[in-house]
Amino acid sequence: MRKTEGRAEKIRELLDEVARLHEQCGRLLGGNVRPGVGKIAKTPPAAAPFNIEAAEARSKIQSFLIQWARVVVVQRRVSAPRCEVSGLAAFLGTHAAWVAGHPAAEAVPDQLASLVARARYAAFPEERPQSIGRCVEPGCGGRLLRRAGSDQEPAQIECSRDPGHVWRSHEWLDLRRRIGQRS
Ligand SMILES: [Zn+2]
Repeated sequence: MRKTEGRAEKIRELLDEVARLHEQCGRLLGGNVRPGVGKIAKTPPAAAPFNIEAAEARSKIQSFLIQWARVVVVQRRVSAPRCEVSGLAAFLGTHAAWVAGHPAAEAVPDQLASLVARARYAAFPEERPQSIGRCVEPGCGGRLLRRAGSDQEPAQIECSRDPGHVWRSHEWLDLRRRIGQRS
């Protein structure tokens, strides 16, 4: 598979996911807010809670997609899509092969993945990485974060500094022992 074909495929997948999470975050803003989600402003109790993280994640997704849709419209001389995120994502999905070959496209999968991560943490705060404390590896100094698993990745504890410091769930007892020995 050529490099740009793989990238186009990745971009299509991430566009689908980003559009889905954009909608999910939108539901949080529609008053149907899950308990304990986001930062709730100190407003009178009668006011609807407003999930700032979800709103920000949505607006970042939309600006990113608009920015790339504009590049496609101008350089390929095609008509512009609707400005809703679902329309933008579908439009960019159609042009994913072209986008993947664009000189500025190398960072696009990473940028989309970070939009996905941000929107996912806004929509599902329980999936946010939890800090466990200092890394147990000698001289490392990184922080240990517990990541909830997903369909693609199992849950694991990882180090903020060294990607080699990773503990899968079957190693957690051993890790806990090492944390205990340290203190
Ligand atoms: Zn470490």
